[in-house]
Amino acid sequence: MFEKEYDVIVIGAGHAGSEAAAAAANMGSSTLLITMNLQNIAQMSCNPAMGGIAKGQIVREIDAMGGYSGIVSDTSAIQFKMLNKSKGPAMWSPRVQSDRMRFAEDWRLQLEQTPNLDFYQEMVAGLIIENDRITGVRTSLGLEVRSKSVICTNGTFLNGLIHIGDKQFGGGRAGERAATGITKDLIDVGFEAGRMKTGTPPRVDGRSLDYSKMTEQPGDEIPSKFSYSDETKPLEKQRSCYMTYTSKEVHEILKDGFDRSPMFNGRIKSLGPRYCPSIEDKINRFADKDRHQLFVEPEGWNTVEVYVNGFSTSLPEDVQFKALRSVAGFENVKFFRPGYAIEYDYFPPTQLKHTLETKLIDGLYFAGQINGTTGYEEAACQGMMAGINAALKVQEKEEFILKRNEAYIGVLIDDLITKGTEEPYRMFTSRAEYRTLLRQDNADFRLTEKSYNIGLASVERMRKMEEKKEKSFKFVQHLKDLSVVPEEANPVLEKRNSSPMKQSDKVFKVFSRPQITMEDVRSFSGVNEFIVENDLNNEMVEQTEIQVKYSGYIEKEKNNADKLNRLENVRIPSNFDYSSIKSMSYEAREKLKKVQPATVSQASRISGVSPNDISVLLVYMGR
Ligand code: FAD
Repeated sequence: MFEKEYDVIVIGAGHAGSEAAAAAANMGSSTLLITMNLQNIAQMSCNPAMGGIAKGQIVREIDAMGGYSGIVSDTSAIQFKMLNKSKGPAMWSPRVQSDRMRFAEDWRLQLEQTPNLDFYQEMVAGLIIENDRITGVRTSLGLEVRSKSVICTNGTFLNGLIHIGDKQFGGGRAGERAATGITKDLIDVGFEAGRMKTGTPPRVDGRSLDYSKMTEQPGDEIPSKFSYSDETKPLEKQRSCYMTYTSKEVHEILKDGFDRSPMFNGRIKSLGPRYCPSIEDKINRFADKDRHQLFVEPEGWNTVEVYVNGFSTSLPEDVQFKALRSVAGFENVKFFRPGYAIEYDYFPPTQLKHTLETKLIDGLYFAGQINGTTGYEEAACQGMMAGINAALKVQEKEEFILKRNEAYIGVLIDDLITKGTEEPYRMFTSRAEYRTLLRQDNADFRLTEKSYNIGLASVERMRKMEEKKEKSFKFVQHLKDLSVVPEEANPVLEKRNSSPMKQSDKVFKVFSRPQITMEDVRSFSGVNEFIVENDLNNEMVEQTEIQVKYSGYIEKEKNNADKLNRLENVRIPSNFDYSSIKSMSYEAREKLKKVQPATVSQASRISGVSPNDISVLLVYMGR
């Protein structure tokens, strides 16, 4: 059935696998995507939403590179919000509420239109490894498919175990079976594996809810979108979410079920995502809080199913039901699906290189939840990077790595492979030391050209990015050249409580004052005219505003990043013998031996490696 040898086989069509397959195939590699159920491509296992704080930036980065997550998020969105708009632009984060079924369908349509990509539905039960090299996969029916590289993106499916109260059963997600075989094969060749846990709330029938008792949460009045491309448009209509609260009474009912909770009776042994705690965890940890927020999120345009965000639980279904019936607006609630928790195998990511290729087996890559992360966006970007690097390796080209000052994707991968993770890793803006550089508005400036150069981003994307860059930079220059007289500026300054001008000044300087907005500046002669004459769109105008308002911070961060990158250029030979460096602490030597950092900069980020150890290492590297 499979006579040819593929360049790349991707195991699993979740968020990581779908992006991996898209990237590898779009870069010209013959690619096979094998997944357990072709109906569930890029299925959203948990909340029907993409983006949010730091995650929205990742989706923009994927899109800027030519991945599909941004496009599909736009085409399947039912609500758009730019979060943190009241803070500086480094914090702005786009988020959409998604139509869950349409999301999966649109992903499948995108993939089916991708050249070089074949599909096959079955479980991969084993990996074919010869002389420390991956050469293919074995399916549960016993088929062998040969390939030059394999990307494992098994998500929560490896030996998945679902818990609801005192019941537990095998599964990779509710209604889907677990995947077996791969973990054993990997452990047999020397990989270290661990267990993690995550959970999800019940889904309910929207017709049984009383929304008049909740607070409406509409989308943005002027919605934006994720994709930089012209393939999608902002939403013309949106669906609202609603907010309600738990109460003391709800907490008491939940507590009644604690003795049957797998979280508390020791049945669940692994660690879950700290920042996405279950409702029982919240009640337990924040015992002084009388109520917790719940967001009531529609699952799509046409379905009545509703997702109860904030009520993730693995308590027995009768306890879940009784407690939810005590929440305002949920008095007559009917369940579609109970909440549950799941435990699954993951592989500590310190076993990977920056390319996401494993250190142990040549041509074998891991991406997504299998690496100990949580979240669709975190998974998707790893998939894209693994797909790119697998394709480049097959083409015998140089690897593609993003630095920490270039992308959240770079921060995520560097954190994972350098520090590892003991609990599900989620992206936050605070993880990035250069967040003023890594904004959602400039992901195209940062990444589109790089992606174009390796053969992924299209020429249209490249042209669009260049036009935005050229026009917004020209506008900045115009504001630097253009002067405004006090008679024109002072009424505006007075309105904004900003001190009046005594003599003419450049518009750029006036605009740099914190109180002054683009709307104010547009009232000065020569500004709006420039926008109209040069046909600047909203994105270009917004870009200009950011360049003016934050130029000082941006410059400062660029300088800091340049300094750090000097260490990035000091490479450490592979298999460098740390045990011979006696002037380095024992802990540092052990950690360095384990992680095998590629550069001195990466070495400096390993916990337990001190600045003193780095100075010693620099001497050994001839610096
Ligand atoms: P998945 O989306 O899990 O996809 C894996 C794919 O691989 C599936 O299509 C599966 O069929 C396929 N597959 C697996 N093994 C094989 C095999 N051997 N052969 C063939 N195909 C295979 N994230 C959050 O950010 N917050 C949350 O609160 C949260 N809660 C969650 C709750 C639950 C119950 C679950 C299941 C997930 C939750 N997640 C949460 C995680 C989120 O769903 C994942 O991070 C994301 O989906 C990971 O993407 P992935 O591509 O790595 O894997």
